[in-house]
Amino acid sequence: MLENLIKQMGDGSVTKLCCAECGNVVEYYEEVCLDVLNSVMHKDCYALQYALKDFGTFRYIVDKYDFFETLR
Ligand SMILES: [Zn+2]
Repeated sequence: MLENLIKQMGDGSVTKLCCAECGNVVEYYEEVCLDVLNSVMHKDCYALQYALKDFGTFRYIVDKYDFFETLR
């Protein structure tokens, strides 16, 4: 699931993650929500409040969870 949202940009040297809801690239400074399936969405795109696992800036999430290692 997470793999489907990771994009290699340009020459492949930059890896980005796309929002599971709107499909736009998530930037590190943006406020995001992490749900129980480990999907990342913009805070504004997130609707299923009960499945919330964590939230904060994307930078905070990437540094906290090891499964985002490729995005560091
Ligand atoms: Zn979004």
